[in-house]
Amino acid sequence: MTAKINAKIRLYVEHSLGAGQSLPLDRDQAHYLFGVMRQAVGAHVALFNGRDGEWQAEVVEAGKRGGVLHCVAQSKPLQLPPDLWLVFAPIKKARTDFIVEKATEMGAARILPVATEFTNSDRIRQDRLQAHAVEAAEQCGGTYVPEVAELQKLRALLDYWPQERQVMFCDEAEVGNALELAADVHKGGPWAIVIGPEGGFSDAERKRLHAMEQAHVVSLGPRILRADTAAVAALTLWQTVLGDW
Ligand code: SAH
Repeated sequence: MTAKINAKIRLYVEHSLGAGQSLPLDRDQAHYLFGVMRQAVGAHVALFNGRDGEWQAEVVEAGKRGGVLHCVAQSKPLQLPPDLWLVFAPIKKARTDFIVEKATEMGAARILPVATEFTNSDRIRQDRLQAHAVEAAEQCGGTYVPEVAELQKLRALLDYWPQERQVMFCDEAEVGNALELAADVHKGGPWAIVIGPEGGFSDAERKRLHAMEQAHVVSLGPRILRADTAAVAALTLWQTVLGDW
């Protein structure tokens, strides 16, 4: 059954996906599909839920307040990203949104905002950031949505740091070649990228990160990058050297 595979519209849903599976649409989804995107009964939509890969589905009922989709055939298997966390200190709203969007596109498995001593903002809207990750996954063809964790203190995160998780600590005070990262580690295993806020890390935080046995201190070049640029640069570097690119 390869009915008109590759619908243009991709939607993230919570519901299980599988052959013959029907799923109800909630009000927002119905509004988006039928109101905004002008789809009707018979239209095809690609669905993913982060667990069952991507499925082509057909609209079998379309209403103002709801609707029903019917799964036709799987069009992609589930593709998990490498086990990479992006730990970053939230900056201004639009730039934080950008970091979450880019991290999703670039294949981070989990996104962890942390409050540091010089963090520019000490509150985030986790639900909004999570929605950004969903949108980015819909747009980039991914079958996985990274979890955006609640804001936590960097100190608390480091207190319970998992023993086996390596850390790529991006330190603007470091001089050296970013590609040295590849020399002392092999592919695979859990990792995290750590990026500081606009004000950088405090001396105490920098000292603590340097002292971690899992730490690999990395320079991203002789220029100071903004935190959002640094996040994208670091993800690129890690993916090229150790990831699934
Ligand atoms: N402390 C700096 C700015 C920090 S830039 C200052 O005010 O002078 C924000 C974060 O991006 C840093 O904490 C670091 O994690 C990362 N970053 C920026 N430029 C970098 C570089 N050249 N090498 C490594 N990390 C960098």
